[in-house]
Amino acid sequence: MRLDRFLSEATGMTRSQAKKALHNGEVTLDGELIKKSSAHINDQTVRLNGQPLSRPTDRYILLHKPAGYISATQDEVHPCVLQLLPMELRRGMQCAGRLDLDTTGALLLTDDGQWSHRLRSPKKACPKVYQVDLSDPLTDAKAADISERFTQGVQLNGEDQLTLPAQLVVLTPTRVLLTIYEGKYHQVKRMFSAVGNHVIGLHRLQVGEIKLDDSLAEGEWRYLTPEEVAAI
Ligand code: URA
Repeated sequence: MRLDRFLSEATGMTRSQAKKALHNGEVTLDGELIKKSSAHINDQTVRLNGQPLSRPTDRYILLHKPAGYISATQDEVHPCVLQLLPMELRRGMQCAGRLDLDTTGALLLTDDGQWSHRLRSPKKACPKVYQVDLSDPLTDAKAADISERFTQGVQLNGEDQLTLPAQLVVLTPTRVLLTIYEGKYHQVKRMFSAVGNHVIGLHRLQVGEIKLDDSLAEGEWRYLTPEEVAAI
């Protein structure tokens, strides 16, 4: 985290007040005077006028995203998911992954850029579980065929590589669960379109170990537990 941001989050100063404090020589990093607001801090002790500052804690949030909200911090047309958080929690928050405007369900938000990056990294291959409603009812044979094709990987328009193996569980002829391990643009919708069906409802139930609580109504959120944060 940049030093000016650390100062502002640990003390409630504005960024420009933090920069001024740095410029005035009021800040030390492990005992060394530092004036550069762009300096990055890790585990050093930061003191302001000799007083040690405690580290602002990063925030990790699970939001039950309603349809009609965009997974972004600002947008000119649609309301953003950030608007569902209290004002004091919004600063520095980013979506860790995205859901389409019409998709509902588990969306993670954090101000910890490294955690968000880890979560989204292709190397991590974090499983994401979706409940999918389909326009065309599946027969047993069709479901078996799609399941096989998803296990093998399907070719999406405009992509070089097949999708990673994904698992299909049929709940009813028009409702399935799909687990995928990557996050290409409109991936679930494009996968079903590649096998001749059409997604009419999409709801994310789980990201990695983090499950959407039954207790969270659409638009509600909760902090992740330390175990959930550590599992990413
Ligand atoms: N796949 C999609 O097609 N849309 C989403 O919102 C998430 C995954």
